Amino acid sequence: MSRSSSDRQAVPAKSGKTQAGKTQTGQLQHDAVWQDADWRRSLRRRLLHWFSQNARDLPWRRDTTLYRVWVSEIMCQQTQVATVIPYFERFLDAFPDIASLAAAEEQKLLGLWEGLGYYRRARSMHAAAKKIMEQHGGEFPESFEEVIDLPGVGRYTAGAILSISRQAKLPILEGNTQRVFSRWVALRGAAPVEPPATRLLWEIAETLLPRKRAGDFNQAAMELGALVCTPKQPACDICPVNGLCAAQARGLTAEIPGKLSKIKYVDRTEFALVIAQAIGDEDRQFLVRQIPAGGRWEGLWDFPRLTEDALASADQAADQLSRELGVSVSAGSRLTVMKHAVTRYRISLQVHEATLGDDGEPPPAPWKYCSLAEIEQLPMSVTGRQIAQMLGS
Ligand code: SF4
Repeated sequence: MSRSSSDRQAVPAKSGKTQAGKTQTGQLQHDAVWQDADWRRSLRRRLLHWFSQNARDLPWRRDTTLYRVWVSEIMCQQTQVATVIPYFERFLDAFPDIASLAAAEEQKLLGLWEGLGYYRRARSMHAAAKKIMEQHGGEFPESFEEVIDLPGVGRYTAGAILSISRQAKLPILEGNTQRVFSRWVALRGAAPVEPPATRLLWEIAETLLPRKRAGDFNQAAMELGALVCTPKQPACDICPVNGLCAAQARGLTAEIPGKLSKIKYVDRTEFALVIAQAIGDEDRQFLVRQIPAGGRWEGLWDFPRLTEDALASADQAADQLSRELGVSVSAGSRLTVMKHAVTRYRISLQVHEATLGDDGEPPPAPWKYCSLAEIEQLPMSVTGRQIAQMLGS
């Protein structure tokens, strides 16, 4: 089941012992505690016992089918557990199995995902569900090779799904375990995201797995990182592996893990133009469109949004939109400014009223006018939804 043998071939030549209890691989240093069978046994026993007493009651832990674990793992990528819980429950109500997900309208799927971000995850799940229907008779596959072959599934996710649902002996490495394993072995000299460190941590993750209950071990290690061995000020005094942890023994918990690559944020200004169809205050309709393939938030709906770097004013944004629509557009007063972040951009979204000239045809599809009640039913970008709520208030 494991693909780990081929991955392990990528691990650099075996680390050589430099002195008792320490190994060094180039710049990388760590304590070789994990190569000691007694240490591993003790760590597993303590960690699993702690998990049995302290695991959070999360909805996807109550019934660990492959489908439910898959949905939870995809939703939890880049997203806090507390945020995911209501989304997970709504998603499972709407799509209780692979067949219903495969048959879903993309708009409904994106609507249920609205606000969770990273919408590519939802589209990949949709594609994966269709693939499972076509190639696996509607049954979620159980081999590592077949699971990792699904859209949106990488080595971590495949290992997590199969180990948590089936207790398959497959390692995992994500943000929490990267930090926890780094501390257990006092990884020094390189950030855990650098390739040699990553290879070493995957090897450690695999070596630490017990023969039975591998999924519980993986979840326990992640849970320890989430609840106890947190990035800042880990709670070593209540930690179940206190006394086995090399970073703690060396007094290096503040330094380990090394610096993770920090995102360099770039400030930018973008514009959204609110264009109302003039049919009275009661039934106002607003120009919106579905974002085409390849665009930011593909498949969602949005007000006219101008994101080009060069735009310095609402008037320039209106000119740009005018060229896109083939109708003259005039920017009006500013309604609000919204601050939000997309990947590495910190965006100041200037929201202005705007009007269309009567010198041309109505904007062509995919543009259309929708009432606020109709917009309510459309999957929107988060800031698009905020604009709609502002217009309705
Ligand atoms: S002893 Fe401290 S640093 Fe080590 S795993 Fe526990 S909480 Fe983390």
